[in-house]
Amino acid sequence: MSHTWINGQLFHNEQAQVHALTHSLHYSGAVFEGIKVYNKKAFRLEQHLTRLLDSAKLLGYEVAFSLSELQAATELVIKETGLSECYVRPLIYRGHESIGIYDSKLKTNVMISAVALSKVLKPQDNSLIISSWVRPAPNAFPPQCKASSGYGIGTVALKNAMEAGVDDALLLGWQGYVAETTRCNVFFVKDKKLITPIPDCFLNGITRQIIIGIASSLELEVIERNINASELPTFDECFLTGTAAEVKLVNKIILDNAEAHYSQYTVGSMLQEHYRKLINSECQ
Ligand code: PMP
Repeated sequence: MSHTWINGQLFHNEQAQVHALTHSLHYSGAVFEGIKVYNKKAFRLEQHLTRLLDSAKLLGYEVAFSLSELQAATELVIKETGLSECYVRPLIYRGHESIGIYDSKLKTNVMISAVALSKVLKPQDNSLIISSWVRPAPNAFPPQCKASSGYGIGTVALKNAMEAGVDDALLLGWQGYVAETTRCNVFFVKDKKLITPIPDCFLNGITRQIIIGIASSLELEVIERNINASELPTFDECFLTGTAAEVKLVNKIILDNAEAHYSQYTVGSMLQEHYRKLINSECQ
């Protein structure tokens, strides 16, 4: 049965509760992680929890638990949950001590939950639509802070994409260049070179960084640059990366006045395989 740890106490998920006046429920500002468990082992646990604590620092949280305490708590939740493959969601949030936008009385809480994960996107043939919502400027919200505040836009963009019959939405950044999807980073392939946006207004995902490392070890050139939506039909391949999604191949992007079609999956599927091998080697 799935378990949730809250501030040092373990509950069955059904019994894990928060107060109706929880600050982060009303005003967002919770910071969180998404960690995938394979073979009862959390993949890149330390990297995810380090990002969690960095996100918390960016929003002024004082967290009472250390990195190693959070690691131990995560491992306990995985063990008690008993699923060999699952998704772990650590969340740091402000409590219910005040209804104000900020009050020094507000306590910091830490929750770690494990749930069975339904498949995120198909291995290939995923379609995207360009969203009219954009990722905000770095001085509107710190882009490397994985906080609930950023996900309101993603929720609406994904709802619109699903209603349009596609798998996800591709968002542009505030300057008008391609940024990322609602839950994944994006890569394109042209003449066997990888082209990916500069993560200056969106999350520089852990999977993205791993894929860049794998590509370099395979001597594939990786170019980080501004990408205009109008260039998308000229690329050979497109794929998405993220912890839950892993590496997912895209076959179509719907633009305002055109469609980009990708019928090749050569480089994307090779990286998909290498990523899987890495998981298998680290989570034995
Ligand atoms: N961008 C967004 C908006 C995401 O939610 C995610 C998933 N965490 C990513 C990118 C990919 O990040 P990661 O590879 O660290 O999971």
